[in-house]
Amino acid sequence: MDLHASTWTDADAAETDIAFIPVGSTEQHGPHGPLGTDFLAAEAVASETADRVDREVMVTPPMPVGVSEEHRQFTGTLWVSPDTFRSYVREVAESLLHHGWNRIVLVNGHGGNVRAIGEVAARLSRAEDALVVPFTWFEAVDGAFDMGHAGPLETSFLLHTQPELVETDRLDAGRDGGTDRWGEWVSGTNVAHDSAEFTENGTVGDPTRATAEEGENLLEQATTALETLLSTLADRPVRTVPHK
Ligand SMILES: [Zn+2]
Repeated sequence: MDLHASTWTDADAAETDIAFIPVGSTEQHGPHGPLGTDFLAAEAVASETADRVDREVMVTPPMPVGVSEEHRQFTGTLWVSPDTFRSYVREVAESLLHHGWNRIVLVNGHGGNVRAIGEVAARLSRAEDALVVPFTWFEAVDGAFDMGHAGPLETSFLLHTQPELVETDRLDAGRDGGTDRWGEWVSGTNVAHDSAEFTENGTVGDPTRATAEEGENLLEQATTALETLLSTLADRPVRTVPHK
C-alpha cells in the first residue's frame, strides 16, 4: 500500500504493523545516469516487494536526499549531514510508530547512508516498542557485476526499471571518463574523501556492460531478499531483550 496514494481512512483500516521507508540520495551518476538513481532503486525494490507479498505493507514516500557530500563537485548533487539524515529518518519512523506500524524496514539504495540507517534502526529498536532493520538492496544481491558507481550494476537495474531515464548514447562516455575502482587506496586506507579525486565524470565501472536482463535479475534477487527479511520481521517478537 503506497501511503502517499491512500486516504487516511484507508491507511487507518489497513491491517498491518509493517512499513517500508525507502531511503536514497540525489547525486551524480555519471553522464548517463539520472541524479535520482539511488532513491528510485530503493523505491522500486520496496514497491515491488510490497506488491508481491500477500500481507499488507505500508510503503512511505522515498527520502530523496541522503549522505552524499562525497559527490559535491558534480552539479545537481544534494546532501545533508549524517546528523540531519539520522534525525529525519528517525522522526519519520517515529511517526509510523505513533500509528502502530512498529515493524519497519529502512530500504536503502545509497552506500553513504548505510552507517546512518544502521544506527537509526538500532537506536529505535532499543528505545521504542519497535523492530527496525536496515536493508541495502545491492548488498543483498549476487549479480554479474561489482557495485562501482553508475557502473554496470546500477545501470542494468535502471535499464530494467526505468530505461527512459538512462542516456544510452552516453554509456561509452561514461566508461571513458570514469575509473574502475572506488577510492584511492594506500595501506588499506582510502585517502580520497570525494569521488572527484579519482573519477573524472563520476563513473566507477563500465556501464557499457549493463543489460536490462541483468537488471531484471537484480530486481528479482533484491525483492526475494526483502521478502525473506519481511517474513522474518513479521514473526519476530517486538520486545526489549531482558537484562541477564
Ligand atoms: Zn547509486
